[in-house]
Amino acid sequence: MSRKRFLVTGGAGFVGSHIVAALLAEGHEVVVYDNLSLGHRAAVLPGARLIVGDLADGAAIDAALSDGPWDAVFHFASLSLVGESMTLPFKYLLENGVNGIRLVEACVRHGIKRFVLSSTANLFGAADRSPIDETVAINPHSPYGESKFMVERALFWADQIHGMRSACLRYFNAAGADPDGRLGEDHTPETHLIPLAIDAVLGRRPPLSIFGSDYATPDGTCIRDYIHVTDLADAHIRVLTQLDNRSVHYNVGTGRGYSVLEIVESVARVAGKQVPATMAGRRAGDPAVLVAGADKLRSETGWSPRFTDLDDVVGTAFRWREAHPRGYDDAVARSAPTSTPQRVRA
Ligand code: UDP
Repeated sequence: MSRKRFLVTGGAGFVGSHIVAALLAEGHEVVVYDNLSLGHRAAVLPGARLIVGDLADGAAIDAALSDGPWDAVFHFASLSLVGESMTLPFKYLLENGVNGIRLVEACVRHGIKRFVLSSTANLFGAADRSPIDETVAINPHSPYGESKFMVERALFWADQIHGMRSACLRYFNAAGADPDGRLGEDHTPETHLIPLAIDAVLGRRPPLSIFGSDYATPDGTCIRDYIHVTDLADAHIRVLTQLDNRSVHYNVGTGRGYSVLEIVESVARVAGKQVPATMAGRRAGDPAVLVAGADKLRSETGWSPRFTDLDDVVGTAFRWREAHPRGYDDAVARSAPTSTPQRVRA
């Protein structure tokens, strides 16, 4: 692939930073647009340029987009706590939904031809089928899911009326970390199972609470499809070639589900000791099973996950977390004396 230029909103976040890494590895030029409210400066690899800017700042978005040409815009910048969205719906509908639509409009105005959206399996609610393929009815389960769907709809009309092609990638559970150990998962607050189980086994947090053991699954705990974030990054790059003449939607997961107890066992194998854990009640809004039907992505793009062994997925997450007890704060502390200054534009 010849060298291309990409703008990545939210490129300092967990998934976004791994896409930046994948684009840099292919020799492309990458500019990250991130307000660093949830993302981390140290998650932007040195080869990328960082613009510190907010999605709500139309003038700053315009300035960034004016600095084209851009081969595509990748949009990751968003709030992503489903539970929080159930108590603060308008925060999500406005910050993710409305600001996302403003970004789509700005991209159309600046003549962007390709747009890739980080979307979510939350769009499918508590689907009554498994695996969940692209034919399952959309029924967002939360204002978070709804906010992503708002942007998907804006992209539909941007295509119909203005010819801007887009890919909406509906992720299942992004997991793992950069196999080279440069990047990892650092959320505040952390709510996800794998990082919390790792912290519990490392003695950095109280025992893990297992949310519900009475689900209609073989061991009674919820089943999810944990896709390695590097495989997710690969999917984003592969879909670009689909966007020459049409827009696409794909569900992105491995097609294989693991229960909460299976994850806990995997963390124990990787760590070499038992994970302190206690049984707790169900967490509101958790469907029993969410597994992706990703055959469409596989057949149309040739994508397939390289991380097919759960312990490898967990292992990459474990190694990064073990080495970074304070997340990216450690990376900043370690790299400060020798780091090359990043070009930052306000
Ligand atoms: N989970 C759990 N204990 C925790 C965090 C999560 O048992 O401390 C369960 C949660 O109920 C769900 C699964 O682990 O069934 C994955 O949750 P996570 O928050 O990682 O991702 P989600 O599926 O909600 O996007």
